[in-house]
Amino acid sequence: MSRFWSPFVKNLVPYVPGEQPKLDNLVKLNTNENPYGPSPQVLEAIRGGVDASLRLYPAPNADSLKSAIADYHSVTPQQVFVGNGSDEVLAHIFHALFQHDRPVLFPDISYSFYPVYCGLYGIEARTLPLAADFSIRPEDYQQPNGGIIFPNPNAPTGVLLGLDKIEVILQANPDSVVVVDEAYIDFGGETAISLVDRYANLLVTQTLSKSRSLAGLRVGFAVGHPDLIEALERIKNSFNSYPLDRLAILGSVAAFEDDEYFRATCQAVIRSREHLATALQLLGFEVLPSAANFIFARHATCDAAGLAQGLREQRVIVRHFNAPRIDQFLRITIGTEEQNQALLEALKQLL
Ligand SMILES: *Cc1c(COP(=O)(O)O)cnc(C)c1O
Repeated sequence: MSRFWSPFVKNLVPYVPGEQPKLDNLVKLNTNENPYGPSPQVLEAIRGGVDASLRLYPAPNADSLKSAIADYHSVTPQQVFVGNGSDEVLAHIFHALFQHDRPVLFPDISYSFYPVYCGLYGIEARTLPLAADFSIRPEDYQQPNGGIIFPNPNAPTGVLLGLDKIEVILQANPDSVVVVDEAYIDFGGETAISLVDRYANLLVTQTLSKSRSLAGLRVGFAVGHPDLIEALERIKNSFNSYPLDRLAILGSVAAFEDDEYFRATCQAVIRSREHLATALQLLGFEVLPSAANFIFARHATCDAAGLAQGLREQRVIVRHFNAPRIDQFLRITIGTEEQNQALLEALKQLL
């Protein structure tokens, strides 16, 4: 702390991202990165942009990317907002659409950036407990609120909520914005983007960080009614005119063009997830049903913090949350088959 800090900064509680250790030879299963590299076409497109044109600012509205996303999801470019990772998109959503005099609702177990944004923008948060099976209870989301947000599938549980249940929440809240954070939807769910033309209060966010293997490029987007998008543009244009650089725009457009690679890598992750879930169950873990590129599991007898530490000593990094209700769980990112094997071998040593 410094005497130069404003009182506001002194009171901020920032998000703590999963660690990015510098060590080599780690089996890194802690931040839900994709184990496969980005599409070769993405790398080629980025290389093609490494020239003197980098002296120029990028397109402020990333129109080529908005069009690519609109085409991919059968919406109009006016229904698309893009940002520097979906975290930035989410920040603008809290700022533009959630600052009302009622609390924002989200599950007690969900993405830990939501309370951070509430703190940053002075928004009251009300968390609603997940059911005992860690599913979201739509009937809870029928109380006065200034907005609703949840990941689908949920993080860090991996549990999916069906579109029919999402419609129940949308219908009960015609006067507030309902944000479905679909960071992991491509690993086993059905996107709610199909509902945006019917619900003016629905905003869906996605990211290229997980299913398109581009966490390092920082690209995310939101799809919804043009009025919601316009609110986000107003914030963005009051904050940073060029959140996406030239290379990020080129690479992410190419990512939407190589659908074959995208589908093949998602399928590989899904197959490995099912193998890993079965293997973990055989080792005595309870595994929540996952529609994501990670598994949330607790062992019948072994303490989760101890397991995480023991794995680390064997150079396998997983995520453990020291938080109520989930402190006996490990969140394990799906790796390559070899990485998953290394995890299982290390666990067998420990158990
Ligand atoms: C990873 C993640 C994001 C953010 O991804 P970006 O890399 O910022 O695009 C958003 N929501 C959830 C639930 C996530 O897990």
